[in-house]
Amino acid sequence: MKLRVATLLPSPDGHFHVTSSGLQFHGNQRDNTVKMSHSQDKRFAEVRKELSFEAAHFLPLTPEGHKCRRLHGHSFRVTIAVWGPIDPKFGWVMDFADIKAACMPILEQLDHRLLNEIEGLENPTGENIAVWIWERLHPNLPQLKEICVHETCTASCVYRGS
Ligand SMILES: [Zn+2]
Repeated sequence: MKLRVATLLPSPDGHFHVTSSGLQFHGNQRDNTVKMSHSQDKRFAEVRKELSFEAAHFLPLTPEGHKCRRLHGHSFRVTIAVWGPIDPKFGWVMDFADIKAACMPILEQLDHRLLNEIEGLENPTGENIAVWIWERLHPNLPQLKEICVHETCTASCVYRGS
């Protein structure tokens, strides 16, 4: 029997030892101990929601002649990763609709804009866009684990809040 909550005390009838994957309980266990462990046994998962916005930008700090220095646009895709316990009642970490609802007011500030004109995005690299979104999203979505900004099908940036 594997217990994932380290504060759970073993039954006096048995004994336990700690392993890298959690506590493992051996021996005769009283019924009330087993019930308690099941109620505290949490499983965690990561859920990902993909959203998008369209915007123009240029990278003013690139060298003369660099193609990204010219004004151009992308269909940016943004993948939001949320980590947390699986709710035993609903069987999910979070409703995807709630993730989308938290993101949309932020992405709407970017959609169909010239990103360079937005405060904080004067140099709108994928990295800076990811940080900009994180700083606005994380206060309302503390379970946020990762933001991935895809500029193209083959180029993306992942930011994890530090
Ligand atoms: Zn670009």
